[in-house]
Amino acid sequence: MMQAALAALGREGAYELLPTPAERLGERMQEVRRSYRGVNVTVPHKRRVVETLDRVEGDALSVGAVNTVVNRSGELVGHNTDAAGFYWALERLDLLPGEALILGAGGAARAVVHALVQRGWLVGVHNRTLARAQELVERVGGWIVAPDKLEKAVRRTPLLVNATSVGLNDADASPLPEGLLPEAGAVVDLVYAPLETRLLREARSAGLVVVDGLGMLLGQGVLAFELWAEAPAPVEAMERALREAVR
Ligand code: NAP
Repeated sequence: MMQAALAALGREGAYELLPTPAERLGERMQEVRRSYRGVNVTVPHKRRVVETLDRVEGDALSVGAVNTVVNRSGELVGHNTDAAGFYWALERLDLLPGEALILGAGGAARAVVHALVQRGWLVGVHNRTLARAQELVERVGGWIVAPDKLEKAVRRTPLLVNATSVGLNDADASPLPEGLLPEAGAVVDLVYAPLETRLLREARSAGLVVVDGLGMLLGQGVLAFELWAEAPAPVEAMERALREAVR
């Protein structure tokens, strides 16, 4: 996706993988400071990387996690494009702010809840580990949906987002009990491998609007690219490359 974006704009450069064990994170970021225009940061470094940066801006401040670093003449600035990237994908559905139910309380859920709350949505959060959901709600907003309230909350929500890793690498797993789905509206799954999760398959068969995990992946990538390139991203070329890569 990033390489396709560079090619489409006729820019030189390479987007490459820098596998980095936790104990080498500080050293790696020094290398970034010397030799890179920027980096994306992913699991498990999104929170700890903050300690290695000079500054953190925008959504990264409230979410407490960084997925994009920009090197501004030796100064490392951290951003979070997951939150706005999620909303970028959601905007394609033309929904008005209303109620939403988020499953999960990890890094992705934090970004999603933050994005929705900031834009006026009323957000319920359900997570297997209650303490993690509590921490999320205290930091970014929303309220907790307890296990005994889950069924009712799922049925009546117009927007359900799976931000757990259930379904990842397992096409048969669903974050919801068998047969439970919203009665109407949209279902978003952040998992993108496989692209069609069981949750999305069942939601589509039930006539619900579905959004797969590539939407947010593309959105966060478009916004990260624009931070590095300081130019509008070639969205179509990026989307084509991304869909090609996950086929
Ligand atoms: P994370 O911080 O590790 O959080 C994982 C979440 O999944 C936690 O809420 C965890 O609950 C829950 N979970 C894991 N196994 C579970 C199970 N068996 N039953 C119920 N809940 C379970 O991971 P993350 O970074 O937030 O990522 C979550 C998912 O979003 C991953 O699949 C990732 O690939 C996807 N993602 C997609 C995008 C995108 O651009 N599309 C971006 C970021 C992440 P506990 O708190 O109880 O452990």
